[in-house]
Amino acid sequence: MLTRVKTPAEIIAMRHSGKLLATVLATLKEAIEPGMTTKDLSEIAKRELRSTGGQPAFLGQYGFTDVLCVSINDEVVHGIPSEKRIINEGDLVSMDYGVTYDGMITDSAITVAVGQEINPKALQLLKDTESSLHAGIAVLRHNVYVGDIAAAVQSVLERGGYGIVRDLVGHGVGHELHEDPNIPNYGKSGTGQQLSKGMTIAIEPMATLGTHKIFVDDDGWTVKTRDGSKSAHFEHTVLITEKGAEILTSL
Ligand code: MG
Ligand code: MG
Repeated sequence: MLTRVKTPAEIIAMRHSGKLLATVLATLKEAIEPGMTTKDLSEIAKRELRSTGGQPAFLGQYGFTDVLCVSINDEVVHGIPSEKRIINEGDLVSMDYGVTYDGMITDSAITVAVGQEINPKALQLLKDTESSLHAGIAVLRHNVYVGDIAAAVQSVLERGGYGIVRDLVGHGVGHELHEDPNIPNYGKSGTGQQLSKGMTIAIEPMATLGTHKIFVDDDGWTVKTRDGSKSAHFEHTVLITEKGAEILTSL
């Protein structure tokens, strides 16, 4: 289903959903420290959302068994929380979360460096991947081409010399977690579908300190870099407006 123009009531629900999501991610960012397990993070995410009227959107999606994806270092996305997986000093931890409120879904991810001893290259990767997300958001407006977004993200990441993950992409979002069209993180401006004001999309650059190549681990979920290089992932759900965009998954 093509992400269609959302009604005012649907946008209000998504705004609320996005605020709940942003609040939970901010709490996770604050709480994360060496020695915690990835399951501890998902327990916090579960607890924080309970009582707000929001529901976790990932639980049961395509058979996923948790509310949060936690992916560390060479894991790019879709890591499954586990009590056995301990977070260490210097790790890059991506947390990807989805919330449903009043039937409407938002999707957002952050990557944080844990502890004090962080490799400067890894820190720069985080900074630049987040900047590439904002570069993609900056070109949004009524009638933007999907390729305009892709090219904006790509140019920031290529300037930094990073691998740009190609096999995974952003997407329309709202009624479903994944709606059409795909929003790739590389492409040519002025190409692809045009998007209208009132549409809601998730832009989600994934970049690595090595090449773009990835594979799915034996658990059937966790996506990792082929060369073992560290990776980063940032994502926002945004509403396209006449002259710009509104980030729905910010505080
Ligand atoms: Mg996501
Ligand atoms: Mg997404």
